[in-house]
Amino acid sequence: MSVRYYLDPFGCAKNQVDAETMLGFLQEARWVLVEDPVEAELIIINSCGFIEQAKQESINAVLMYRKTYPDKKIILAGCLAQRYAQELSTALPEVDLIFGNQDLAKITQAALLALDAGETNGSCRVLVPRDHASGLEAGVSAPGRRPLLSLPGSAYVKIAEGCDNHCTFCAIPRIRGPLRSRPLSGIVDECRELLDRGITELCLIGQDIGSYGTDRTRGSSELPQLLEALSQMEGRFWVRMLYLHPDRFPFPILEIIRRDPRLLPYFDLPFQHSASKILRAMNRRGTGESYLALIQRIRELLPDATIRSTFLIGFPGETERDFQNLLQFQTQAQLDWVGCFTYSREEDTPAYSMKPRIPVGIAAARKGLIETRQIPITEKQMDRFLGRTVEALVEGKVPAQTDQYLARLTCQAPEVDGLTLVRSATPLMPGTFITGNVCTRQGFDLELHLE
Ligand code: SF4
Repeated sequence: MSVRYYLDPFGCAKNQVDAETMLGFLQEARWVLVEDPVEAELIIINSCGFIEQAKQESINAVLMYRKTYPDKKIILAGCLAQRYAQELSTALPEVDLIFGNQDLAKITQAALLALDAGETNGSCRVLVPRDHASGLEAGVSAPGRRPLLSLPGSAYVKIAEGCDNHCTFCAIPRIRGPLRSRPLSGIVDECRELLDRGITELCLIGQDIGSYGTDRTRGSSELPQLLEALSQMEGRFWVRMLYLHPDRFPFPILEIIRRDPRLLPYFDLPFQHSASKILRAMNRRGTGESYLALIQRIRELLPDATIRSTFLIGFPGETERDFQNLLQFQTQAQLDWVGCFTYSREEDTPAYSMKPRIPVGIAAARKGLIETRQIPITEKQMDRFLGRTVEALVEGKVPAQTDQYLARLTCQAPEVDGLTLVRSATPLMPGTFITGNVCTRQGFDLELHLE
């Protein structure tokens, strides 16, 4: 029975892989994915439940689809569904079924239940396996062959699920459970399958990929072994690492990366803050000094390393002095890319009851100052590529431009960093590598002159 369905993905790259995994299962069940919800019998919203704003976005999507398509069946999947299944089963009668993210193999069963769902008399069906252990490896028969929602040539590879770090502001461990690392061979097979189908950039993701394997090795990371294994593979490709908790940085990866230029010297290290008092309250072990030492060690071994980070502003108890400490850290660290967020008070997290709370206006002003001060730093960091001959991954054509293309250099991660403009009279294939000279910078973006 081929049913037409539409999927609307929300949230982070990890949630995107879940959406792709569900697409894979439904594809195997011969369900038909449509591009326009008007053609679908079933709408699946793969929600995000991380912070208030994201939760509201997912709920608004449910209300919008229900209003626009009163007769279609709607499944709420993803983190919001996993986190609030029971509450939403009565509070959100607009959905026909709530489907958790801990056993994605059950999506076809859930979809059939939703289609079969009659009058909901105020509460909807819930299918949320509670056992976190299930489902991690029960992915589609060949995860490397799942449909991809990524940019051309790029794919996210989720190497582990869950997290054991328990940062006090974060609800992820409650939503996704304890750390469960995938078998190394399964990840290598998936990467090989992705390369065989023409993918050229493999982005390794997890809540904290530095912790990969520590759940089965009593603490030592297996990320070095994984990079060694990927480095054995033939071909021209990039391996990019995203989400490395700075307190658990597996230093042996630096030497492995130094030996193989396909393993990108790109480090996404969410420091969150630099004031020790705040880091302790966040249940983080590092200090501003230890983070600066980490950055220096990376740059000593890999002078061309690109470092991205995230700062969390307005955490309970953050004084003007703590904030000044962070501003000083920002100046000393000279990071390539910085994302900045204001603290979102999340129930069921230890920080929820922490005081004193920082007024929204003060937090927003501090965030604005960090962002303004980061602009010249990022621009100066990108200037180091000017005049150099580099490799770039083509993303696609600039809309309405005949000879202009967008691409990314090794220092530009998908969807979060700047881009590179390329002018070419001959067509460039999305997902392929080109080589050229970096000739100019416009803001955070670069321009490449083809060789
Ligand atoms: S490392 Fe911390 S912030 Fe990241 S998912 Fe784990 S608990 Fe949350």
